Amino acid sequence: MDDYHRFKVVLIGDSAVGKSQLHARFARDEFSMDSKATIGVDFQARTLVIDHKTIKAEIWDTAGQERYRGAVGAMLVYDITKRESFDHIPRWLEDLRAHADKNIVIILIGNKMDLEDQRSVPMEDAKEFAEKQGLFFLETSALNSTNAKNSFNTLLIEILNTVN
Ligand code: GDP
Ligand code: MG
Repeated sequence: MDDYHRFKVVLIGDSAVGKSQLHARFARDEFSMDSKATIGVDFQARTLVIDHKTIKAEIWDTAGQERYRGAVGAMLVYDITKRESFDHIPRWLEDLRAHADKNIVIILIGNKMDLEDQRSVPMEDAKEFAEKQGLFFLETSALNSTNAKNSFNTLLIEILNTVN
């Protein structure tokens, strides 16, 4: 492989927003024709090919400031039905910016979009926040899979753009 990349991505956000379920969705991606390996509960790697480039994506779902070491991407997750999980996003962003590499690519994720009837965070609010902060943004559902794969791919493609 003449174009191989290993990208570490961290999942952050309040507990119960769906990080582990998004992680699991990514790990079982049916579109992958490449190998995947599970190394412990909080770490999973999958190799995929994007734009003729081989990418080993290492997804970390762990606590503590050490998590940011070597990370080139971050998924900042809130729950669209839990306003406070969105209200805490600036704090997560602060933590990230204090401890992660300054070039880290960040995507804001509003998860549980299948629970539209319980929505408490309007999509426009999140979009506006993401634009102001220079973050990518998507709503997802780990439950019905909407945008679950797309969210990781969007992040990996943007990381790829920054390294090339
Ligand atoms: P974490 O603490 O952020 O890792 O959250 P989990 O992935 O463990 O999910 C917390 C709870 O939310 C669990 O009961 C999940 O089944 C549920 N959950 C996660 N993602 C979704 C989703 O997209 N939609 C719905 N309806 N429930 C979800
Ligand atoms: Mg979890």
